[in-house]
Amino acid sequence: MEEQTGKREGWARRGADSASAGAGPGLAMLDAGGRVVFANLDLASLFNQSVDELVGQDIFCFVDEPQRAAARQALRRAVRTGRAPPAMWRVSAVGRRAFHIALQSRPLEGTEGERLYAVTARARPHRSGPVHRQQLLAAIAEECDEAILTTGPGGVIEIWNVGAEDLFGWSEKEAVGSQLDILVPSERRAESAELLERVWAGEVLTRVETVRVCKHGSRVEVSISLAPLRDRMGQVTAVSQMVRDITQQKASKRALAYQAMHDHLTGLPNRALLEDRMGHALERCRREGKGIGVVFFDLDHFKTLNDSAGHDVGDKLLRAVASRLRQSVRSTDTVARLGGDEFVVLCEDITDDSQLDLVVSHIMATFSQPVALPDRQQWVSVSAGVVRGGPSSSVAALLSQADAAMYQAKGRARGSVARYDPKTRPDLERRAEGSRLFRMALKANHLVAYYQPIVDLHTGHLVGAEALVRWQDPERGLVQAKDFIPLAEELGLVGEIGDIVLADAARQMRSWLQVAPALKLAVNISALQLRGTGLLGSVGLLLEGGAKPSSIVLEVTETALMEDAATSRSVLGELRNAGFGIAIDDFGTGYSSLSYLRSFPFDKIKIDQSFVREMATRPDCAAIVSSIVALANKLNITTTAEGVETTDQLQLVRETGCTEAQGYLFSVPRPLQDVLDYFAESVGSTADAHV
Ligand code: C2E
Ligand code: MG
Ligand code: MG
Repeated sequence: MEEQTGKREGWARRGADSASAGAGPGLAMLDAGGRVVFANLDLASLFNQSVDELVGQDIFCFVDEPQRAAARQALRRAVRTGRAPPAMWRVSAVGRRAFHIALQSRPLEGTEGERLYAVTARARPHRSGPVHRQQLLAAIAEECDEAILTTGPGGVIEIWNVGAEDLFGWSEKEAVGSQLDILVPSERRAESAELLERVWAGEVLTRVETVRVCKHGSRVEVSISLAPLRDRMGQVTAVSQMVRDITQQKASKRALAYQAMHDHLTGLPNRALLEDRMGHALERCRREGKGIGVVFFDLDHFKTLNDSAGHDVGDKLLRAVASRLRQSVRSTDTVARLGGDEFVVLCEDITDDSQLDLVVSHIMATFSQPVALPDRQQWVSVSAGVVRGGPSSSVAALLSQADAAMYQAKGRARGSVARYDPKTRPDLERRAEGSRLFRMALKANHLVAYYQPIVDLHTGHLVGAEALVRWQDPERGLVQAKDFIPLAEELGLVGEIGDIVLADAARQMRSWLQVAPALKLAVNISALQLRGTGLLGSVGLLLEGGAKPSSIVLEVTETALMEDAATSRSVLGELRNAGFGIAIDDFGTGYSSLSYLRSFPFDKIKIDQSFVREMATRPDCAAIVSSIVALANKLNITTTAEGVETTDQLQLVRETGCTEAQGYLFSVPRPLQDVLDYFAESVGSTADAHV
């Protein structure tokens, strides 16, 4: 008793400086080797570990070095004599603060004579006395979130705490004396028996994940830590089990795993899962000697729709496309979304090209019907790249080949399918890289419109500006249109550029009209835009900003006209009727057919800069320019000389009677504000220095 009193005082005195507010008593039971068999949450949190982690560990490892040997010695004495000396040992290296643990003076003896050694720990001063087995269990039961039970020989339940009652629904009265098997689903019985056998043989098993059944038949996913309980002689007489319900944790783990492998928008497998499935499919190819098909799909003009109709509509379209793809393949095939508007279909058991062709044409055919969006029927065109793989293929190579083939398809026409052809590989790779960068630029909004002033050669006034697209590349700086328009054309993405420029111009229209209402805005229209259906709508954006059609000039190159003369004529006719100005761009570089001037409704001819540049040195060029100007004047068509860089060129161009000029001499293309400033200045000084 003396000893106990002394110990309590000592505990109180020393405990004062190891306070950790709010913590309850930490309780653990050790086996004769000092390993934790049970622990409550408070003890675990003092040790900065989970209960599961702590179970099975030698508790004396944590005791500060100078006292560790003495602590072990105390346990040995308790094992030998049945009485532990009163002492406390400091634990300072694991938790947020140092604390002390004390061994209860008497071991707890169970009905089978197994011995447990109770340890208490408290961050706050407390009075501590000897703890008896039932008390300790009651304390643990009260405090522990975990279900704790023990089974004796034959798997009969002997101890059953409140946690176990809560988890499994059986009361202590019902459970104690029953077989452990009341908790074990039939298909897990063998596993459970094997676990018990190992623990009876002396093993401590921590965090075994398995399934248990509750009283009313529901199943719980659990993590169980099992430890042997020994008697005085060191014989195992029972097995303790600490059971934690991890159903929630497992469900959220599964949800996370699902998210990591699926695209959140469409629910389709993502790239990671696709690659995994392709890997397995190729392994099967190796075993069974069959082949697979990989088809890379990309929606045409998706960005345009997404930007113009809104992301909500874009998302709906992507979901609709996803489900259409899903429905058009076998359930064993994988449809994945790689991101953006890119989808991949993986078909297994493909033995020849014709079989794959059939699958692809079936998929393509499903896009001959429009997709129903809430407010419209949307036609979707997709381009596809196809490659067949076999036992020697690799996942990465197949994906990049299918991707490259898809670019090739895009280069042909919308809605095309191309099969991967190894001969065009290097070219395709280069293009694929360029296109990857360009697509990224589109996504990142790195394309902007710059404006180049157009000057009236008679008055010297600024009469308008031409919008020219620029790629603001974080690495290369400002990239000129001529350096990426051909790529965009090849990829079929030039329409997207047109839309970006039109949208930018439309946004700026109000400030433009405030400063310079009389200035005309020229925008370049690509062949694809001319043939597409959205041009009138896109151009209409400019009018929403308050501009009149007559102050907008649409520039079309000869080459674009040639691609589909009939459509071009009717579209341009419509635009002209709506009041827009139409210019033929780069005149002289294409077919320069004079019949265009008759059959197309032009207001303006833009004489290509190659003629202007050589006027001074080549009389034939000067003659061509003057003839074009003379002809245009007769037809009442305005002329613009492009690429005027020097005052000499300006002089020559003026002598031909050309109406307007544009070129670096006046200004390089710049952000709109600079052009408006330029305008303000040119109004201030009518006699422009250059004119
Ligand atoms: P373009 O419509 O004939 O535009 C004039 C091109 O000449 C522009 O090149 C301009 O920067 C350049 N330029 C202007 N003044 C001079 C000069 O004094 N000297 C020289 N050497 N060059 C001058 P950029 O911006 O590289 O555009 C090239 C072509 O790309 C354009 O020729 C046009 O056909 C096309 N393009 C530009 N922006 C767009 C666009 O938004 N949509 C479409 N569809 N095509 C565009
Ligand atoms: Mg132009
Ligand atoms: Mg031009």
